[in-house]
Amino acid sequence: MADLLGGKGANLSEMTNLGLPVPPGFTITTEACRAYLATGREPDGLREEVDAHLRALEEARGKRLGDAADPLLVSVRSGARFSMPGMMETVLNVGLNDASVAGLAAQAGGDERFAWDSYRRLIQMFGKTVCDVPSEEFEHALDDAKRARNTTNDLDLDAADLRALVDTYKKLFAKHTGREFPQDAREQMDLAILAVFQSWNAERAILYRRQERIPADLGTAVNVVAMVFGNLGPDSGTGVAFTRDPASGHQGIYGDYLANAQGEDVVAGIRNTIPLQELERLDKRSYDELLGIMSKLESHYLDLCDIEFTIEQGKLWMLQTRVGKRTAAAAFIIAGQLVDEGLIDLDEAVMRVNGEQLGQLMFPRFDLSGDPKPLARGVGASPGAAVGKAVFGAPRAAELARAGEQVILVRRETNPDDLAGMIAAQGILTSRGGKTSHAAVVARGMGKTCVSGADALEVDTRNGKFTVDGTVIREGDVISIDGTTGKVYVGAVPVQPSEVVRYFEGDVAGDQEGADPLVSAVHRIMSHADSLRQLRVRTNADTGQDAARARRFGAEGIGLCRTEHMFLGDRRELVERLILARTDGERQDALDALLPLQRADFVEIFEAMDGLPVTVRLIDPPLHEFLPPLEELAVSVAVARERGEDAAKAEALLAAVRRMHEQNPMLGLRGVRLGLVIPGLFAMQVRAIAEAAAECAGRGGNPLPEIMVPLVGAVQELETVRAEAERIVADAGAGAVSIGTMIEVPRAALTSGQIAEAAEFFSFGTNDLTQMAWGFSRDDVEGAFFWRYIELGIFGISPFESLDRDGVGRLVRIAADEGRAARPDLKLGVCGEHGGDPESVHFFHEVGLDYVSCSPFRVPIARLEAGRAAVETAPSAAAG
Ligand code: ADP
Ligand code: MG
Ligand code: MG
Repeated sequence: MADLLGGKGANLSEMTNLGLPVPPGFTITTEACRAYLATGREPDGLREEVDAHLRALEEARGKRLGDAADPLLVSVRSGARFSMPGMMETVLNVGLNDASVAGLAAQAGGDERFAWDSYRRLIQMFGKTVCDVPSEEFEHALDDAKRARNTTNDLDLDAADLRALVDTYKKLFAKHTGREFPQDAREQMDLAILAVFQSWNAERAILYRRQERIPADLGTAVNVVAMVFGNLGPDSGTGVAFTRDPASGHQGIYGDYLANAQGEDVVAGIRNTIPLQELERLDKRSYDELLGIMSKLESHYLDLCDIEFTIEQGKLWMLQTRVGKRTAAAAFIIAGQLVDEGLIDLDEAVMRVNGEQLGQLMFPRFDLSGDPKPLARGVGASPGAAVGKAVFGAPRAAELARAGEQVILVRRETNPDDLAGMIAAQGILTSRGGKTSHAAVVARGMGKTCVSGADALEVDTRNGKFTVDGTVIREGDVISIDGTTGKVYVGAVPVQPSEVVRYFEGDVAGDQEGADPLVSAVHRIMSHADSLRQLRVRTNADTGQDAARARRFGAEGIGLCRTEHMFLGDRRELVERLILARTDGERQDALDALLPLQRADFVEIFEAMDGLPVTVRLIDPPLHEFLPPLEELAVSVAVARERGEDAAKAEALLAAVRRMHEQNPMLGLRGVRLGLVIPGLFAMQVRAIAEAAAECAGRGGNPLPEIMVPLVGAVQELETVRAEAERIVADAGAGAVSIGTMIEVPRAALTSGQIAEAAEFFSFGTNDLTQMAWGFSRDDVEGAFFWRYIELGIFGISPFESLDRDGVGRLVRIAADEGRAARPDLKLGVCGEHGGDPESVHFFHEVGLDYVSCSPFRVPIARLEAGRAAVETAPSAAAG
């Protein structure tokens, strides 16, 4: 019931039900919090319910809250659905006051030190978290008290010292809040509860939710738990532990323990903790009980758990558990281990990892064996390992990059003016902003490494330097940034290829004795995902080399082979001839010269993908993109004239560029429109495909070409292209070639029933479909305002990164449904970049497409996510 009780509350209940020793208490639901936040006042009935539960708690403990002689003390603990830094922390020892502190001492056999230690902790935590008293003030006062005793150990303070400290704390409290520390125990509790509610909207919590895409309206639960005391002498203490090694997955004892201490002391570094193993020596009975509980928790949660516990005079109490966090590598390894131990099956193992984690494992990594010390740390905003010279301005970054230098662009924060520099840089480092800042959003969109919000950096762009704690880095100094961990290093940290990529490349085996544990876990999980998935995974590849690599990565064909590059390089000359042709004859000559070149390209690709389908897209971009830019041509014309040389060709090109200029090239003469306007262009490409296929088949190969027409909006466009293409294919003797279209213009999606009459397949071009559905062009908007849209919550994530289900997704669904209704065996795929995005892959599975296609490096991610999507939608969902 984590939605209602928060993670902490749900797990405390769960442990109680399992019969584990949990101190009694009650949980105020997230619903109450939401009601409070909506109205700004305590929801009706809350007070009465708290009264009733408090009475039950008092009965269970045989003590009353606020009783001077024998007080019940409680902790008030926040606990949302997702654990969240920035939320109010816990207040311990609620219920103590000037009178009951004596009662507590008496109940503890006259232990005055313990009672005053508990009281000073209450004032400190209550002051800090409920009333915003600066916590340093309390810490300074504690340091002063220790200094007066000539010690650094809080255990050396005696009852009188702590009692004096309580006085100092109370004065601090009064000075900062303008009131006395509340003596009414119930008032303490009520104020702490409301403070937990309010902390949901603390600035840091809001920021964190935005970064992690946690919904803003969940609210937090509040746990009120009877206190147990780890500060009741040497046979008491507090600790934290994992049920297994969060890195390797091995079961064992991983944790820290601190004797005679309370709560956060163990993680706050107040005194040196001891390894949990040593508890066996101190208190064997509690230690053995703890081990038993850990194994019980594992067999209940079927996963690695982390736990918090306290021992009060030899009695063990469990205070928290949850399924523990782990690194991407550990997630795979642990999933494999749990299968080996029979705790989960392979279906479940597939659900325990995800494509984002797999993606992290595929980035090149820093080789940290030399143990480099990070200079600073920010947010890992866009993964990868980047090394380069620090540069503080975008123009300079672009200039150095043109000169062949590797640079890291360092800014306080970036803005749209920095775009050229961001493109030129290996990576981007900023001192401000989190995962949704301009730098982070744009870098992720470009697949570029980015560390944002490294706030230890004092960036001085004017003087071209940044400073961290006295270390100065100037322009040209080499730095290394890790976009996964957010760490920043001075100098060039060596980079190594990822072991997982080497596995996908076939350089290391995953199924042999003694294989790297990570590689072998990835191998098992990927093999199983492949056996489950219903979606096929193809790749976007334009060359034989890319096709071959993608095939090693598991691609089952090419979903998008762009033919644009076949018009570049030394073929530009021919394209210029094609564009400048004045007669049909001249044009046909140029096309005839291009034909064998294209045919050779296709032969190479068909061979690399022999036996697997290859979807070739006929030329898509406007032809003027193949000509030199206007300014460049104007200069060549001027120079030629100056020198008295023949300027005729440059002049002709210049005139053509002027003539072909478009206001909105994205919406101009491109795609199928080109094919219909320029005689012979598509025909040449179709012939090259058909002849290449015939050639491969003639050599005993099994080429499976599919011809894809881009940017179709009306069935008539496709019918016209199709009629001619069928004639050419028959003429080339290439056997059957299926002909289909991209669905990337909204009109195509909306008339898909008609279009399906002329198409054997649809491939959703979700990049263009997104641009045209939203009416913005990616190149213009991503750097210009997306960060702002994300900040405002208009998008949770860029619609180019993850498919917009509500809008663009609706077009996909309509086209899939109506297309299949018109032609039941219509093949459906996706060739936009969304084909490799985990979230989007799940959507395409739900819609029932046949395949997704993505860049070679995303193929394994899509395979895994397609497997996960299949488990998720299986009738007897195995998860859980
Ligand atoms: P967080 O969410 O930061 O982990 P918790 O609510 O778990 O905060 O409280 C932090 C620590 O305070 C716990 O690990 C535990 O040591 C201590 N604590 C909380 N409640 C109690 C309690 N009722 N009795 C004793 N210690 C407690
Ligand atoms: Mg805790
Ligand atoms: Mg397109």
